[in-house]
Amino acid sequence: MTSPQDPTCLFCKIVAGDIPATIVHESETTVSFRDLNPQAPTHILVIPRSHYPNAAALAAAEPATAAHLFDAAREIAQQEGIDGADGGYRMVLNTGAAAHQTVFHAHLHVLGGRPMTWPPG
Ligand code: AMP
Ligand code: ZN
Repeated sequence: MTSPQDPTCLFCKIVAGDIPATIVHESETTVSFRDLNPQAPTHILVIPRSHYPNAAALAAAEPATAAHLFDAAREIAQQEGIDGADGGYRMVLNTGAAAHQTVFHAHLHVLGGRPMTWPPG
């Protein structure tokens, strides 16, 4: 299977190792690293190694990889100690500029380590 890449994409450059990131988890299909501008004590981005502009495009083209994002998030939550009964974490997939997507390579935010409010802004 070919793995689409965009040489101009920031997150493709992180996957390639051309831009540094604090990587906390890797799998055959995903890479996970700490967000540069964390919004919670734990704020990690789980991304596919393949380039798709958003989660919807990823799910359509590589549904198994989309599922792997959630599997990585589960393992990261365990690693970070935010998966316990008194913990909990939020997973966010901003899709489209109006939903505050700013990097157009699909990514799953994993946020935890503080109480969350609802509704989100
Ligand atoms: P979104 O607004 O959903 O597109 O999220 C993009 C996220 O990428 C933001 O939370 C940024 O802080 C984060 N980000 C941007 N550049 C980097 C980088 N070089 N390393 C880590 N996180 C980044
Ligand atoms: Zn990309």
